[in-house]
Amino acid sequence: MSTTEIHPNVNRVIFTETQIKEKVAELAQQITRDYKDSKNLVLIGILKGSFVFMSDLVRGIHLPNTNVSLEFMSISSYGAETSSSGIIRIIMDLRTSIEGKDVLIIEDIIDSGLTLKHLIELLQSRKPKSLESAILLRKKEGLKTEVPVKYIGFDIPMVFIIGYGLDFAENYRELPYLGELKEECYKK
Ligand code: 5GP
Ligand code: MG
Ligand code: MG
Repeated sequence: MSTTEIHPNVNRVIFTETQIKEKVAELAQQITRDYKDSKNLVLIGILKGSFVFMSDLVRGIHLPNTNVSLEFMSISSYGAETSSSGIIRIIMDLRTSIEGKDVLIIEDIIDSGLTLKHLIELLQSRKPKSLESAILLRKKEGLKTEVPVKYIGFDIPMVFIIGYGLDFAENYRELPYLGELKEECYKK
């Protein structure tokens, strides 16, 4: 990628389109392998951040003997903008039952892990056959709770990431790479 194509508010590109593509293909292969005997697999994309990851991931999954369905949930966590309390509010819930089905949560990023932990507790109460998660990015140093994650894309340092579906104040989701937002853009 030539530097002229990089957004001026991006400090540096953390992962290029090519790197992301390879990693997502790897995750899709693992998922294909692990769910080959599944009857019903429900992939739950957490809006909005996971929409690009989800759309690339599902196209790499090949499960001809499984009913694969896609659902979306929209949640927001209470608390300040840059850190999450982990107390989640459901903005848009699932439209179907997940009882007795294999469920895979698709999320863009975990920092403290609190949002995912609460989401797992909520979905577990609906009695799926199994419940796992696929997360594109994890800030290992940010983790404040033990949260089981089966599929991880990349571990990243404690910087603010935008692009490939991830936003800052609803902007930058369209960028095809994962970039670090310039500090001056969010520290006033
Ligand atoms: P957690 O509950 O794990 O602390 O927060 C997870 C949520 O915080 C993510 O779903 C995302 O909305 C937001 N978040 C955390 N770190 C980043 C980041 O570097 N970039 C963006 N765009 N969102 C982030
Ligand atoms: Mg998210
Ligand atoms: Mg956001």
